[in-house]
Amino acid sequence: MTSEAISSGTAITPERAAAFLRDFATMSEFGATPAGGVDRQAAGEADIEQRRWFAELLTAHGLRVQYDRIGNQFGLLDLNPGAPYVMVGSHMDSQPTAGRYDGAYGVLAAAHAAFVLANEWSESGKRPQYNVAVVNWFNEEGSRFVPSMMGSSVYTGVLAPETALATTDKDGVSVAEALAPTGFIDDSDGPRAAFCAEIHIEQGRLLENAGTAIGLVTASWAAKKYVVTVEGDQAHSGATVMEDRRDALYGAALLVVFARELADRFAGVLHTAVGQLDVYPNSPVVVASSTRLLLDLRSADEAVLAEANRILSDRFAEIERIAKVTIHQTLSHEWGINPYQPEGVELARSSAERLGYSHDEILTVAGHDSTNMKKIVPTIMLFVPSVEGISHNEREHTLDENMLAGLDVLTDVVRRFAHGELAPSS
Ligand SMILES: [Zn+2]
Repeated sequence: MTSEAISSGTAITPERAAAFLRDFATMSEFGATPAGGVDRQAAGEADIEQRRWFAELLTAHGLRVQYDRIGNQFGLLDLNPGAPYVMVGSHMDSQPTAGRYDGAYGVLAAAHAAFVLANEWSESGKRPQYNVAVVNWFNEEGSRFVPSMMGSSVYTGVLAPETALATTDKDGVSVAEALAPTGFIDDSDGPRAAFCAEIHIEQGRLLENAGTAIGLVTASWAAKKYVVTVEGDQAHSGATVMEDRRDALYGAALLVVFARELADRFAGVLHTAVGQLDVYPNSPVVVASSTRLLLDLRSADEAVLAEANRILSDRFAEIERIAKVTIHQTLSHEWGINPYQPEGVELARSSAERLGYSHDEILTVAGHDSTNMKKIVPTIMLFVPSVEGISHNEREHTLDENMLAGLDVLTDVVRRFAHGELAPSS
């Protein structure tokens, strides 16, 4: 079947656009913060309420809702019994004070793409080769339960379900305990994927600066994420003479500063951050005995990442001497530069082209669920512009016209996947 035969132009009617924007506004009310953002950490109250609402939305449009053993939420559009699925979605959980668009946009766009296609197939009587599964991956953000991308990691076999379910938050609540009362868990592997598509906000400013509507993601930056503990000795913050101190917070501070200096040394090709710092006992008159921090290193060049790691290890040894502390470093999560399948990038490019949207290739710096999925099935990742590149911030914003353009291209991509354009036999 030629692509012209299955798609001839935009599927986003004014009614569809209005329905999408209305649902997006409703969605943004779950966990809404006064400054216009959201707080929807995985399996927290707002995440649970939003999932209930989403299940109703899917059901109302004729999709069958299902869960797997790690709480991934699926909306199944079954048109060809027994056939595997085009998996399309993103995540609805968020960082503690986050924007409305990160993940949530991609899940809602996936749902509306499925609604459009369900109508099309129902009207035409055509039966696609593959079924469609809308997915809301569990705990992509990893703010409450580490690591991030947990749901897709379990789905793709990167992370054992028992390990994920036993992971605890700061209060000692496990993923299993948090999910059990919600009903969002089932003793199932979830629907079998044949292809995957995800659309997401860029979270950078390349598309906006270039005036480009659609980013065709060709590969992800490599990343290494560490849990680092700095061990010293508790002491009186006034009385203990300075040379006797083994100050764990001083050691951690040197490390935080060095992580930034390291990124400056590889300007533009290395991103580093310490996103969390726990201090013990964190008491006014006590020199800290222990600190724990989460350190990220990311680069588009694996050689740079390896070199940065080497320099960092040398600096750890220096910090141990300077602050008289002991440093332990554990790798908690890593991924390499794995390209998205080029034939998927080409498919997405031709969809953007024939629908008349400007487009360009782009890399993703952040990890996404599609980063996992592309290891098991052909996967397409699309970006839409983020205003000023602001993300993981309540001021995160994407223009309506950009969201709708993305929905249009995503719909076409899912349509073409479902009709078997990249099927192994065709
Ligand atoms: Zn995201």
